Amino acid sequence: MPYLVRENLFIGNISDAAEILQNGGGGGAAGGGDFTHILSVLSSASISFFSEWRPSVSIPVKEINKVYVSGAGSGDSGKCALSPEKLLYSLEYAGRDLKLVRMAVPLKDTENEDLLDYLEVCIDFIDRSRKEGSVLVHCFAGVSRSAAVITAYLMRMENLSLEDALESLRKSYEFVCPNDGFLEQLRMFEEMGFKVDHSSPIYKRFRLKILGESHFSGSRIDSSKLGADPGMPVQISSDVEGATKVETNRSPTYRCKKCRRIVALQEHVVDHIPGEGETSFEWHKRRSGNPFNKSNESCSSIFIEPLRWMKAVEEGALEGKLSCVHCDARLGYFNWAGIQCSCGSWITPAFQLHKGRVDISPV
Ligand SMILES: [Zn+2]
Ligand SMILES: [Zn+2]
Repeated sequence: MPYLVRENLFIGNISDAAEILQNGGGGGAAGGGDFTHILSVLSSASISFFSEWRPSVSIPVKEINKVYVSGAGSGDSGKCALSPEKLLYSLEYAGRDLKLVRMAVPLKDTENEDLLDYLEVCIDFIDRSRKEGSVLVHCFAGVSRSAAVITAYLMRMENLSLEDALESLRKSYEFVCPNDGFLEQLRMFEEMGFKVDHSSPIYKRFRLKILGESHFSGSRIDSSKLGADPGMPVQISSDVEGATKVETNRSPTYRCKKCRRIVALQEHVVDHIPGEGETSFEWHKRRSGNPFNKSNESCSSIFIEPLRWMKAVEEGALEGKLSCVHCDARLGYFNWAGIQCSCGSWITPAFQLHKGRVDISPV
């Protein structure tokens, strides 16, 4: 049986979802009428198995659309060079009478899965569903993935800290236990103000870490995974978005000292906390203020996102020189396994520009 979390919001496992799909949304679940929506958070394999699943009573599924999410979320997602790869979820009508709206999000229950980039679409879906009817959020066991998604939803909607949201959820459902990687991402969600803020250094370093993991797992880092080259002319676009981008883009520009070619913009800089050493990855240790605003005078380098002019990165090397694409002057170094800044902090993976080799200038 699905458990009631809030009015019109339930948590459950895969059998609960199967039951609802077989018997339709009806049944008058206590505390929230009939089910009208299902949010399935399952591995891609389970999603397709589940969609094709035909027990004694058939479950018709009429797929209406698949939606690609790129840089989903709030803020200036379009500008973020490290915006997520195209992510896929599907929306479909399902259930005996094709009366249920089901959204399926492909996510495995492992610590290094990227939960963060799905949170905004999941929260939106739950919010809309509750206004139209009752929603079941389920994964396989109803312990980690579904609980993590609902926890984020409660944090956002009720302004609860991670701990308070978990505790509140446990009162209605004692089996709540998101895996450690999800907990860490929910902490980032909290530190970003209950949203996925693509301009936040927390988010940028998270994306960098994900990119590093995909490099070490053997994926090719092709140009689609690298940020746009700020030195290449931008296509003039007449839409409103293009116009506002120009307006707001008054941040400093980094240029090759020798030939003046633009090599990075302020938005590509991935800030670190000076002198934090290896502990800088433990986000949860910092609770107050914005430690990224500390002075970085002791740093002789800036660290940026990997950009498309970095040919050596695309060639697949673990580490190498970063040279100006125009005059070939040495600008810095990159290393997927990390580089230690002169302040003592380790940045992993690291794409480093020596301050002495670039000029900072206003646009
Ligand atoms: Zn430093
Ligand atoms: Zn140059």
